[in-house]
Amino acid sequence: MTVERTYAMIKPDAVKRKLIGKIVDRIEAEGFTIVAMRKHCFSLKEAQGFYFVHRARPFYPELTEFMSSGPIVALVLERDNAIAHWRDTMGATNPANAAPNTLRKLHAASIGENCVHGSDAPDTAAQEMGFMFPGISLL
Ligand code: ADP
Repeated sequence: MTVERTYAMIKPDAVKRKLIGKIVDRIEAEGFTIVAMRKHCFSLKEAQGFYFVHRARPFYPELTEFMSSGPIVALVLERDNAIAHWRDTMGATNPANAAPNTLRKLHAASIGENCVHGSDAPDTAAQEMGFMFPGISLL
């Protein structure tokens, strides 16, 4: 069993629909410890920086405009197998394909506005935690 950390985000659609509490509740029910949490409004430039890896994808303009359209909640989560477990809890990118009881199946409206984000690998988790919590010692 390896204790691991991942970066998670509650996206603007879910914040607007007052789902922060429900999603945080689910995070704790899944056995994660919340190591860090902050609300933040991305500027368009910051959203473009965060999603730089997707810059060549056709949905990049739509994604970065959406992510800078309202506040998000950024979190660092810890538990065994955190990266895979959080991605399982989120469900497939497109809510139409998401498994029952996943956050995206329960709450997401579309493939773009899909309520939550989660890092997909240890290197992206480290990079995304550093982007949103720079210089902070995460105890
Ligand atoms: P995931 O968030 O499940 O890891 P990706 O890394 O493939 O998915 O994409 C990042 C984000 O970009 C998605 O969560 C979604 O908000 C957006 N996105 C992905 N594919 C599309 C698409 N075809 N149209 C619009 N937005 C998309």
